[in-house]
Amino acid sequence: MTSVLGDDFISIVDEIERNRNISKEQLSQLLDGHEAEELRQRAVFVREKIYGKNVYIRGLIEFTNYCKNNCYYCGIRRNNKNIARYRINEAGILACCAEGYRLGFRTFVLQGGEDEYFTDERLCRLIGSIKAGFSDCALTLSIGEKNRESYEAYFQAGADRYLLRHETADDDHYRRLHPAELSLTNRKECLQNLKDIGYQVGAGFMVGSPGQSVDTIYEDLQFLRELQPHMVGIGPFIPQHDTPLAQETAGTCNMTVTLLSIIRLLLPHVLLPATTALGTIDPTGREKGLLAGANVVMPNLSPRDVRGKYALYDKKICTGEEAAECIACLKKRVENIGYSIVCDRGDYK
Ligand code: SAH
Repeated sequence: MTSVLGDDFISIVDEIERNRNISKEQLSQLLDGHEAEELRQRAVFVREKIYGKNVYIRGLIEFTNYCKNNCYYCGIRRNNKNIARYRINEAGILACCAEGYRLGFRTFVLQGGEDEYFTDERLCRLIGSIKAGFSDCALTLSIGEKNRESYEAYFQAGADRYLLRHETADDDHYRRLHPAELSLTNRKECLQNLKDIGYQVGAGFMVGSPGQSVDTIYEDLQFLRELQPHMVGIGPFIPQHDTPLAQETAGTCNMTVTLLSIIRLLLPHVLLPATTALGTIDPTGREKGLLAGANVVMPNLSPRDVRGKYALYDKKICTGEEAAECIACLKKRVENIGYSIVCDRGDYK
């Protein structure tokens, strides 16, 4: 006999799955965590029906930590004078790709601050070189807000996917995390442009960022439901000591994992990474994420000497390892939980 609570839970989850929608009441019930295990199992069931036990890998190349923006949470913000700035040139980036290719990666993610050195012309040439050298690979950009023409140019040059977390879908919350020159309206417009152009698009948000509440998370989920992105990146907020939010508390692994499961139910086909931030907040966070509905991991391909400088948050893992060590370690972790890493582009199904 299941308990009344259990019956209630099952009907909530059935309803979420059926409607691919969630009410605020249902969200707050699931976030209380009492039935996290049942929720997790349901999300894994949905994930395995579509993607089996496969885990896709993306080679993350953090190619510049220069940034013209000043986001309150981010360690590479413009006003942080305490980090050494770096950028990797085209030859260096191509070398990362070559090493990644050798290790089995078929997706490369170029992520960076909003660095004006990388003009559209330089970026398009870089994108062209990567796609020419590695024609069976997908290329993802994660370089922030640009105008529509720029996004079009990168797409023409060969970029396939774009990650741009919306960070929060609530206006007041957005203003609490960003200076006035950045706006949620513009962020949303960027995401819509990317989608219209034909990119596979990723949105997402930090879990436990200062000012986040059930209400703001509810708005995040509604926004994701409307946007229907191909990818959703979520990870715990982790304070960085040289930012205005240094003294705030970090998001938790449990909350992140619960939200991964909920997102899997709302967007069954979505590509959902178990992020580095999740692995940072909890030594087995990425495994927990994969066992709660995530199906992607994004090991670092950046050269070892720059890794520590891409300091979005404190105590980031894998800053001392070579790419080959990272993928070997992850492979073991993934196999230990009964999943397997696949070496293909890992497109949206
Ligand atoms: N400039 C690009 C890439 C940003 S870094 C852009 O604007 O999209 C990628 C993601 O790291 C951000 O979207 C943010 O959600 C996350 N991030 C930044 N600072 C963080 C912190 N202190 N804790 C956790 N995640 C953080």
